[in-house]
Amino acid sequence: DGGKRPDYLAGLNPEQTEAVETLEGPVLVLAGAGTGKTRVLTTRIAHILNTGRAFPSQILAVTFTNKAAREMKERIALLVGGAVEGMPWLGTFHSIGVKLLRRHAELVGLSSDFTILDTDDVVRLIKQLIQAEGLDDKRWPAKQFAGMIDTWKNKGLGPADIPEGDARAFANGRGRDLYFAYQARLSTLNACDFGDLLMHPIAIFRKNPDLLKEYHGRFRYILVDEYQDTNTAQYMWLRLLAQRSKGEPQNVCCVGDDDQSIYGWRGAEVDNILRFEKDFPGAKVIKLERNYRSTEHILGAAAHLIAHNEGRLGKTLFTDRTDPDDVKVQVHASWDSEEEARAIGEEIEQLQRGKHLLNDMAILVRASFQMREFEDRFVTLGLNYRVIGGPRFYERLEIRDAMAYFRLIAQPADDLAFERIINTPKRGLGDTTVRALHDYARARDIPMLAAAADIIETDELKPKARKALFDVIQSFRRWQELLENTPHTELAEQILEESGYTDMWKNDKSAEAPGRLENLKELIRSMESFESMRGFLEHVSLVMDAETNENLDAVSIMTLHSAKGLEFDTVFLPGWEEGLFPHQRSLDESGRAGLEEERRLAYVGITRAKRRCHIWFVSNRRIHGLWQSTLPSRFLDELPETHVEVAEMEQSYGGYGRGGYGQSRFDKAEPFANSYSTPGWKRAQANKTDATRDNWGTRSGHAVERIGYGESGPKGRTIDGE
Ligand code: ATP
Ligand code: MG
Repeated sequence: DGGKRPDYLAGLNPEQTEAVETLEGPVLVLAGAGTGKTRVLTTRIAHILNTGRAFPSQILAVTFTNKAAREMKERIALLVGGAVEGMPWLGTFHSIGVKLLRRHAELVGLSSDFTILDTDDVVRLIKQLIQAEGLDDKRWPAKQFAGMIDTWKNKGLGPADIPEGDARAFANGRGRDLYFAYQARLSTLNACDFGDLLMHPIAIFRKNPDLLKEYHGRFRYILVDEYQDTNTAQYMWLRLLAQRSKGEPQNVCCVGDDDQSIYGWRGAEVDNILRFEKDFPGAKVIKLERNYRSTEHILGAAAHLIAHNEGRLGKTLFTDRTDPDDVKVQVHASWDSEEEARAIGEEIEQLQRGKHLLNDMAILVRASFQMREFEDRFVTLGLNYRVIGGPRFYERLEIRDAMAYFRLIAQPADDLAFERIINTPKRGLGDTTVRALHDYARARDIPMLAAAADIIETDELKPKARKALFDVIQSFRRWQELLENTPHTELAEQILEESGYTDMWKNDKSAEAPGRLENLKELIRSMESFESMRGFLEHVSLVMDAETNENLDAVSIMTLHSAKGLEFDTVFLPGWEEGLFPHQRSLDESGRAGLEEERRLAYVGITRAKRRCHIWFVSNRRIHGLWQSTLPSRFLDELPETHVEVAEMEQSYGGYGRGGYGQSRFDKAEPFANSYSTPGWKRAQANKTDATRDNWGTRSGHAVERIGYGESGPKGRTIDGE
């Protein structure tokens, strides 16, 4: 249009520019990692504002996390020169849902000050309902039903949508009735659950076309990031807002990457990408193919890996970033997870000496229990770290509970520990009992555990509570006696078993329970390197004391799931072993689809890296307290030899004083990637006669072993779906 192009458009490539400037009509940007999808969205918003097409309050923009929403706001402010007064409708589906619901609560029978129940509240409520129905809540656990309701809501199904008497459903076909009862109860309580934050607005819009029209008028532009991970309810919500009657502007822009769909287990529907083109006919589909984030090696490795998935839309990805200094993706092997943490710690320190910031490094794990080893190691090294997207290992609920038991054994005066676990798991020692104990202890100036031992000799408590308390006290006495002479890891396991704490999580049907059990096992494992229970407790208090200051230069530790959309110069990907990654659970539960989702997760992991990507596997992991020799992940076999090299194991690997190492598993002539019939990692594994350390030795004298193969595609360009 002749005028000077705004600065923010200057650096964009033609496809990006098209995606930014096509402001009218539906647009779908379908593109691989690091191609600038999020940047396009941000620039698009800046462009809308800058050209005066809409006020900030007329833009509806959905991000996957609150953190992403904050970052997007900051970036928009930079692009338009700081003049954005708030964007009230920029946030996650949930945060926008709350806002809508507060405005129109009365239309679904709530008042605007409704409360949002957390998972615990929901389960408690459902349990009451199950009991009120005369059902056995042991046979039909509340947690399980809470999970079912969540699944239904992710699919946009209300109680009326559940088939009557569906025998497969909960409690011999009474699921539908219970679901009705649950919603009624929420309504009486003026409360809603997380799923309702979408379900209610959907219902409101459906029943009130005029109101919906008002919102159509308000939201002149709608944008969605990470579109591949929307679930059905989110899609329904979005379609209501975005789909307009003929002749009205339909300015909706979704950006996503089918290869990064990693929330299928939470109901995400990658098919929403295909639906979009159907529901918004004439949608302009824009593909971005140039990756601005990663080196050709990183990109080549990721693209080759993901090409093993069948259910793909197929994309091209290339980068112009070729620098002779670029390093290949490095695969490292360690003896066990402790060695792995040590080796990664050394790698980080080395980078640090080379003036690299810790802020530019991240460790991305498949399962949260893996974090513990790194946290411990980094505390020892004095390396700053922060855990993103969740609590630090020792701050997790189940770890704090377990630790409270251990503390109380070692330090019987620890009243905080006492209060934490006296009724966890539930033993019928509710608030009244605890208050009585509290008063009793105060009056006599003794610890609560001692007060409990006294009070059971009196008749101050009701017989039931007294009996329950008597049983716990007996257990505590027994454990205390064992403290001196039983190995502390054994004792710890015994405590968690006998107290019923482990069983509590085993009986828990929620999605988090298996992870919590894994964490508890990891906790026991972490005790092994200490001489005694007391030594261990001391160590943990030091770790807990370590500062996590936002402004500190620190390594990020997080799960692969929460790394979505982020980028770092250096990325460490530990634990690439069969069973852990791909995770056994997802293979068991979802078979081929589960495997493909795991592979997408690996793709997400690798593509977070800008310059350096280190993948690790260990040959032994302690699982259930037993050493198990592990198989390298099949994903390693799926990496292309052109972009990957096997790092020779560090000298420190021999730190156990193992002499006489056997042959290296990484024999020079051994191809490890391009053949499924003879995957080198596996073959090397098969050569291993037993799980003794010697077979996993290193060959010293080589810094890095390079495996050279012919190029398999045009340089700097990897074409998927070959
Ligand atoms: P993901 O799929 O991982 O979410 P993405 O497609 O959203 O990735 P962005 O995060 O938007 O990609 O961009 C990746 C990196 O490339 C960012 O650092 C971004 O600033 C940079 N980038 C994007 N487009 C350009 C461009 N035209 N010129 C220079 N850098 C760019
Ligand atoms: Mg992005």
